[in-house]
Amino acid sequence: MSVLITGIGELTTNTEAGGDALVIDGSEIAWVGKAGNAPAADERVDVEGRAVLPGWVDSHTHLVFAGDRTAEFGARMAGKPYTAGGIAVTVNATRAATDEELAAVVRKHIAEALRQGTTFVETKTGYGLNVADEVRSARIAAEHADEVTFLGAHLVPPGEDADTYVELVRGEMLDAVAPLVRWADVFCEKGAFDYDQSKAVLAAAAAKGLGLRVHGNQLGEGPGVRLAVELGAASVDHCTYLSAADIDALASSDTVATLLPACDLSTRQSLPPARALLDAGATVALASNCNPGSSYTSSMAFCVTTAVLQMRMSVEEAVWAATAGGAQALRRTDVGVIRPGARADLHVLDAPSITHLAYRPGVPLTHSVWRRGERAN
Ligand SMILES: [Zn+2]
Repeated sequence: MSVLITGIGELTTNTEAGGDALVIDGSEIAWVGKAGNAPAADERVDVEGRAVLPGWVDSHTHLVFAGDRTAEFGARMAGKPYTAGGIAVTVNATRAATDEELAAVVRKHIAEALRQGTTFVETKTGYGLNVADEVRSARIAAEHADEVTFLGAHLVPPGEDADTYVELVRGEMLDAVAPLVRWADVFCEKGAFDYDQSKAVLAAAAAKGLGLRVHGNQLGEGPGVRLAVELGAASVDHCTYLSAADIDALASSDTVATLLPACDLSTRQSLPPARALLDAGATVALASNCNPGSSYTSSMAFCVTTAVLQMRMSVEEAVWAATAGGAQALRRTDVGVIRPGARADLHVLDAPSITHLAYRPGVPLTHSVWRRGERAN
């Protein structure tokens, strides 16, 4: 089954190629170019001048959770500071939930994101924090998300000794979870795991063949970026507080700086120095960090709008970061791009150009979405 899409007012491909038409064949893009040169297709859809871009690639979410942290959020907005310890509230609720309850939460948020143009989702474990619940979280995540990350080192469970817990994470827990995931991640931050503990976990994961990611530099300057670059991690996520040396290190590495502006806003932190990163030559991705504590949004459009209006990124830079940038943070070349052979993940805006994402902040602009060649809404 092939579909010719015509009438594209503005086509963002994230490649050199452009045009006003494209062909989907099965689950992949088959052709991109000018409508007059289009090959024959089984079906034809005219998008009537609307903008078409790759579906959002959300490279950082935490969707395997239960419970609610509305009260904590309200208290924070009333002036209480954010600390890493709030994660424990979600851990208790997640451990108490059934498999079906957890799966329903994952499905609900992936469906919510898809309706807003997100066609590729990474998600993490990290609210189990014991062997059985981390394995269960990874299994449920793998059933629903496109990429899964092991985040056993999210927080030291209350009452446990940090070094003993690190040994569990890099030993028995990693052994049990590794077959279910592609990535391992550590929350390298004051109140979570320090440089040595983080490095011990990531080195063990790398030895198992997992790719690496780091949560770093969220609440203050710290060793997260340095560690990520040193170990060749695919991304370091948050990057809210960076030294000049951190920016230089990122600019001269393959490690993507994944910025999570909805999280910074929801915890009343500063926004990350996107302009300095881009000007230095670092690769920047944008992601939602959808989770019940510090960033409870699945809206990539909100992140793009914020990046443009408040982080001095151009619309083109922000859209690239939320599509191809997310793909690069996950070391994927088949998504975040519209070219023959890529996954047919398309986002049609009810607007003539991507500029409207920032020009019309807060307005829901998703007209239609295609995922793996199928019309999703
Ligand atoms: Zn996170």
